[in-house]
Amino acid sequence: MNIHEFQAKELLATHGVKLPRGGIAYSPEQARYRASEIGGEAWVVKAQIHSGARGKAGGIILCRSEEEVEAAADRLMGRRLVTSQTGPKGNLVNRLYIEETVPIERELYLGIVLDRKAERIKIMASASGGMEVEEIAEKEPDSLIQVTVDPGAGMQKFQARELAFGLGLDGSIVTKATDTLLACYRVFRDFDATMLEINPLVVSKGELVALDCKMSFDENALFRRPDISEMRDKSQEDPRETFASDRGLSYVGLDGEIGCIINGAGLAMATLDMIKLSGGEPANFLDIGGGASPERVAKSFRAVLQDKNVKVILVNIFAGINRCDWVAEGVVKAREEVGLDLPLIVRLSGTKVEEGKQILAEKAPDVLVADTLAEAAEMAVAEWKKLGHSAAA
Ligand code: GDP
Ligand code: MN
Repeated sequence: MNIHEFQAKELLATHGVKLPRGGIAYSPEQARYRASEIGGEAWVVKAQIHSGARGKAGGIILCRSEEEVEAAADRLMGRRLVTSQTGPKGNLVNRLYIEETVPIERELYLGIVLDRKAERIKIMASASGGMEVEEIAEKEPDSLIQVTVDPGAGMQKFQARELAFGLGLDGSIVTKATDTLLACYRVFRDFDATMLEINPLVVSKGELVALDCKMSFDENALFRRPDISEMRDKSQEDPRETFASDRGLSYVGLDGEIGCIINGAGLAMATLDMIKLSGGEPANFLDIGGGASPERVAKSFRAVLQDKNVKVILVNIFAGINRCDWVAEGVVKAREEVGLDLPLIVRLSGTKVEEGKQILAEKAPDVLVADTLAEAAEMAVAEWKKLGHSAAA
C-alpha cells in the first residue's frame, strides 16, 4: 500500500526528521490561505498523487506570490496528472500540499528498502539526488552508497556515519545528519514499511531537510497498523484492484481480455504464461486461495467482471485442500448470480474431480471443460479469437 507525500512527512515528523512547513489544501482559495498562513515569499504547490516524477510532469509548481499559489492550485486541482510512473490514464489530483521553500545547498538521495534476497533492510544514499537520480544510478552505479542492517542489532550509529561521510557531508553537520538518518530508519521499521524514499534530501542551513517522501507498506502488517491503514486513498488505486482487495482476494489488473480465476499464486502465474504462449492476453492475475467456498468463487467472478474488457473467463483449479465438486457448485452458483453470458472455460483437477465435472455437465452444460492447463489456455484463446479478437503484435 502506498501513501501520499504529506502523509509520509507526518510519519517522518513523529521521529523528528526536519521538514519544510506545509499544509494541505483542497481548493485554490484554501491553497492561497495556506500560503499566507505559512508566510514567507515563495512556496511550492505539490500535487498529491501516488506517484513520483511529478516534478517532470508539471505537478510541482514553484510560486513567488499568493496569487501564483492560487493560480497553480487552480491548474492542478481535479486534473489527472500523467507521470512516467502512473500509466497513460494518470492519477487524479484531489489534494495539494503547499510548502514553504527552503534554501537548497545540496540535493541528496536516501532510499530504504526491504532487500528480500538478503533478508535485510538496505539503506541506499547518493550524493546526486534530485530529479535525475534514476539516470545517474544507471550510468554510475558505484556512486550509490549502500548499508545493510542486521535485523537483530538494528541500524547502528557507525552505519549512519558511514553514509554521512560517504555523502561527503561537512564535518560540522555530520552529527545532526547521523540523527536524521537513524530517525528515517526508525520510521521505516516502526511502521512496517517496505519502502521509504526521500528525494531530494537536502542540505539546508546546517542540517538535512526532507523535501519529498514516498512510502509503501507491507499489506500483511496493516492489521496491526490501523493508523497506517487509515491513510489508504482508494482514489489513487486501480478500481478493479480495490474491489478485489476489499473482498480479500489477491488480484492484479492487466491489460488483456481473458479473465482468470485460479487457486494458488504459482498456478496463476503458470496460467498467465500459458495464455500468452497460446497467443492471448490475460486480463488479470487472481488467486482465490485455498478454501474456495462457493461464495468465494462467486466473489471472484464479480471481481473479474469489474473489468469491462473481459471477453472470456478461464477458471483453473487444482484441488488439494479444495474440492472440485464444491468449486463446480460455486461456478454454477456464481454464473447464475452474476448472469454470466461470456464463454467460460473450466479446468478442474485433483480431489473429487469426477464429481465436479459431473456437476458442470448437469447444471452448466455450455461450460467448456478442459483436462489440462495447456488445453484450458488454448481453449480460452480459441474462444477469444472466435469473438474476432487477436493479440496486438
Ligand atoms: P517528484 O518529482 O514527484 O519526486 O517531486 P519532488 O517533491 O521531489 O519535487 C521535484 C523537485 O522540485 C525536487 O527535486 C526539488 O528540486 C524541487 N522542490 C521540491 N520542493 C522544493 C522546495 O521546497 N524548494 C525548492 N526550491 N525546490 C523544491
Ligand atoms: Mn522527489
